[in-house]
Amino acid sequence: MISFWETKHFTQYDFIIIGSGLTGLSLAAEIKENNPLKSVLVLERGLFPSGASTKNAGFACFGSVSELISDIDLIGERTVVEMVKNRVNGLSILRNRLTDKHLDFKPFGGYELIFIEGNTDWNYNLNRLNKLLEDFFKSNVFSFTPHLVNEFGFNKALIKSIICNPFEAQIDTGLMMKSLIEYVSQLGVKIITGAEVINYSIVNNNVELEVKSVNGVASIFKASKIAFCSNAFTKKFFPNLEIIPGRGQVLVTKPIDNLKINGTFHFDDGYYYFRNFNDRIIFGGGRNLDFINETTLEFGNTDLIQDTLNTFLEEVIIPGINFEIDQKWSGIMAFGHNKQPIIEKINDNVFVGARLNGMGVAISSNVAKQLAEKML
Ligand SMILES: Cc1cc2nc3c(=O)[nH]c(=O)nc-3n(C[C@H](O)[C@H](O)[C@H](O)COP(=O)(O)OP(=O)(O)OC[C@H]3O[C@@H](n4cnc5c(N)ncnc54)[C@H](O)[C@@H]3O)c2cc1C
Repeated sequence: MISFWETKHFTQYDFIIIGSGLTGLSLAAEIKENNPLKSVLVLERGLFPSGASTKNAGFACFGSVSELISDIDLIGERTVVEMVKNRVNGLSILRNRLTDKHLDFKPFGGYELIFIEGNTDWNYNLNRLNKLLEDFFKSNVFSFTPHLVNEFGFNKALIKSIICNPFEAQIDTGLMMKSLIEYVSQLGVKIITGAEVINYSIVNNNVELEVKSVNGVASIFKASKIAFCSNAFTKKFFPNLEIIPGRGQVLVTKPIDNLKINGTFHFDDGYYYFRNFNDRIIFGGGRNLDFINETTLEFGNTDLIQDTLNTFLEEVIIPGINFEIDQKWSGIMAFGHNKQPIIEKINDNVFVGARLNGMGVAISSNVAKQLAEKML
């Protein structure tokens, strides 16, 4: 049971945000940057942000050729161009807010591996995308760089070429989140971790949130307006919203001597992605190997996917080089068929910013900006 003092000073705010991932913290930043006098609380069920934002591989990207072409098949050229613009603009808000130093932003470029096997018309796809994106980027985004197959040490018997995108970069995911937490804290945002929101109700034009703390005791928090920024975990509160969870498994190797790769890399419609982090490789993906079991809210790793990542490392990425896996983990993303985020006013008091479609590093700042405009 909470005290009179706790009720008076700890539980009442102008805005309460559920979820301290990229979207929730960016929304808190938006609100405080525009309204410094409003009180803002972020409630996070985990001890750290515990969804996707601290679990991704640290790509500042907007889509590889194969990924964007398969998106065009799904949602059409015009929507894909808009999507790319939103991703680039979102990344630019994030960089302006935190600075490149606090993201450890490294503009090493992004690369897509072209396997010898397969009958994709890469020339046609690359030219098609360059044409679609030229107005926005004012230059060609994608170019063939076959000489890099050798330079990066990939298996020449399997990889015939590489597509380079100079606009892509690496970031340090953990540093980004730590910096964002520090940034909003300096603005006066309060964050409470270990606080799981169980339920909400509207009472006299105020929202009351039932919150379970780590010791299992429920408390009531109150706010004029709340926003669910709980991504894949939002469906529990809004069963009618289309929010499909997707687990992303990741591994990191121990340091590798004379590692040749430098940048962010993709293949297979963006389903696989790897990068160097100094002299280690961070490698994730393979969700498409087992869509049924990877459509889950449960964290975890499976032999099927981890073994496949290992095999790609051995046979394609660093053939003939000994390596050891240092750590494995997973993150939970949220998807929808139209590939668009949900930025919605549910009623005058309740808002949702969720379903980042596995691209939240890029778009969360944009989603937060649009959601703040609806809330303020
Ligand atoms: C392996 C992997 C690779 C990725 N690669 C890329 C990439 O290349 N480029 C890119 O742009 N994006 C990428 N992403 C996606 C990106 O990380 C996410 O889209 C983004 O982090 C989503 O941010 P979010 O704040 O909306 O959600 P989350 O980070 O999931 O945050 C939601 C938060 O809500 C909390 N929460 C949930 N329910 C409750 C509750 N009831 N009460 C209180 N708190 C609650 C959760 O604990 C969590 O911390 C990747 C993600 C993964 C996992």
